[in-house]
Amino acid sequence: MAQLIWYVVLPLLSIFSMIPLESAVARPLKPLRASIPQHAKPLVILDPGHGGSDEGAKVNFFHEKRITLVTTLVLKKLLEAKDYRVILTRSRDVFVPLERRVSIANKTQAVIFVSIHYNASHSTDAKGMEVFYYKGRNASRSQSSKHLADNILSQLIKETEADSRGVKAGNFHVIRETDMPAVLVEGGFMTNKEERLLLRDKTYLNKVASGIAEGIDQYLRKHSALTVH
Ligand SMILES: [Zn+2]
Repeated sequence: MAQLIWYVVLPLLSIFSMIPLESAVARPLKPLRASIPQHAKPLVILDPGHGGSDEGAKVNFFHEKRITLVTTLVLKKLLEAKDYRVILTRSRDVFVPLERRVSIANKTQAVIFVSIHYNASHSTDAKGMEVFYYKGRNASRSQSSKHLADNILSQLIKETEADSRGVKAGNFHVIRETDMPAVLVEGGFMTNKEERLLLRDKTYLNKVASGIAEGIDQYLRKHSALTVH
């Protein structure tokens, strides 16, 4: 009996071993993107300014890098509750070079990039919120960025009742070098006593985050036909 097995199995094994490996496993290759749902939720990149050794603006022991992160973490939750996907350029107190923040965004299919900062001035009277966009050669990206800035600023002011310093063109690395519509939000002055007190209050930072979330949502609803991949 044992002998019979060898007579039958061995020749079969040798036949199989002659079949090239490629043909044994060959099957039509699906493109990688096929695994991404057709109507994927829009992806938003949030960039909490500064971090780690880069503390940003600093008044006494009050650091910009901390409140940008607090605001961004709240904003992330609000956007996810509205069914957006969110990627952060940092989620803890670490230094992330500007180039890295840009490359994180540009590697993705993100529809927008939003950088969060707080302001400082030599004049302690300076106060209010402003949103920057980059006015570059790509007219359609510049225009979309400005629309995004307009939506975010108007919702921010509505939510917080802070002073508006307007939407402005600015030449900041993260909004200049990113590929998608991008804005940089300055959510108030740490050097102004009145605003500093507000920025120390978590409830107020929630309002800032909520205003930005509403602005992003308004913009993406209007632009969904153009921006959703
Ligand atoms: Zn800053």
